[in-house]
Amino acid sequence: MNAEIIAVGSELLLGQIANTNAKFISSQLSELGINVYYHSVIGDNGGRLKKAIEIAESRADLIIFSGGLGPTKDDLTKETVSEHLGIPLVFDEEALTTIEQFFNKQGRPLTENNRKQALILKGSEVLPNHHGLAPGMILEKDGRTYILLPGPPSEIEPMFQFEVKPRLAARISKGGVILSHVLRFYGIGEAELENKIQHILDEQTNPTIAPLASDGEVTLRITAKADSEKEAWELINEKKSEILSIVGKYNYGVDDDSLASKTVEMLLHNKLTIAAAESLTAGLFQSELAKIPGVSGTLVGGMVTYTEQAKMKQLGIDKDLLDKHGVVSSECASSMAKNVREIFGTDIGVGLTGAAGPEPHGGEPAGTICIGLAIGDSVETRKIQLSGLRNTNRLRAVKYTFSYLMRQLVEKGYKKV
Ligand code: ATP
Repeated sequence: MNAEIIAVGSELLLGQIANTNAKFISSQLSELGINVYYHSVIGDNGGRLKKAIEIAESRADLIIFSGGLGPTKDDLTKETVSEHLGIPLVFDEEALTTIEQFFNKQGRPLTENNRKQALILKGSEVLPNHHGLAPGMILEKDGRTYILLPGPPSEIEPMFQFEVKPRLAARISKGGVILSHVLRFYGIGEAELENKIQHILDEQTNPTIAPLASDGEVTLRITAKADSEKEAWELINEKKSEILSIVGKYNYGVDDDSLASKTVEMLLHNKLTIAAAESLTAGLFQSELAKIPGVSGTLVGGMVTYTEQAKMKQLGIDKDLLDKHGVVSSECASSMAKNVREIFGTDIGVGLTGAAGPEPHGGEPAGTICIGLAIGDSVETRKIQLSGLRNTNRLRAVKYTFSYLMRQLVEKGYKKV
């Protein structure tokens, strides 16, 4: 199956927003093994959209539209597809009821253009929109499949995941199943990881293995096609074991895991409490932890001590230490970790200081990061050198700290989960 994605919206052409929907849909389709050969972007113009549809029909059998299903005059995707295919628009009763109930609840009058959102292409399969008002739709005509989806990412992403993807997967596997499982790695670059498992990548057929690198992490997506879910999992698990026997020491989690979620899991499992004193990350470490539900069982509190004065006054860092070693030093990170642990009475204290960039700071070049970990009475430090832009360095410092903390806990005999 060859697909083309047509994103509709003048704001995309004006550079006001990036076409993230096409990126999202493409990555989802590649998981299904569907080839995407073209992305098109068309403004809110019926004539040009019609031409784009004709071109897409000449080279794709699956055409996916994003955007232009809303209530306003410039939302004209379904009107244009209707005209082009000669299929009338009719009201979908269920969508209409949802819209009426929404406006009733809000105490706002229901206008004609809002009702328009309940219009669907006659004979299409309606995809409910649980995060907005305009439903999506799938239509078959002359051996081609047309899928119309809303523009807002918060609507299109769940609709694709839960409504479109299972339908496409069932069609491709002809009654079988397609399953994907993501392995997450930290502490190894994409090229090095690929090198180590090159022979596995070279001979892949089913399952397929797709590497992807982002934000200092690498993932491998293993996708298997089989007659049953059980068989698909067997294929995936066999490949997973083979991969992990080579690069297992870098694997920190799977699927939706993150370094933060694994850290929180490990802290909770071992009944450990934590506090952090942050300089260059200014709360990012704690903010990443706080994204994880249940974190209140481990994160007690923390401080942002950005200036030397704040470090001395709030954290009690010794002036002599700062004068002697500088603010970007293992000694400072160590002292921050120890003192914040004492102030908050936790099992673990984390200290983060460094030069985020672009300028050097505290006599150290941009990208120098010092991490202190006070676990019980012992304090460990690590000094690393990053080479990214300011905010990449800040985020990578946090990710490194999660990984470093988990490794140190394992070394001290705590259980990894
Ligand atoms: P609405 O009911 O909100 O009008 P719609 O289906 O008509 O939805 P659009 O009006 O085309 O969609 O877009 C609504 C918003 O969705 C845009 O302002 C933009 O924020 C986002 N959006 C649209 N298309 C894309 C895209 N291709 N990539 C990322 N975001 C998009």
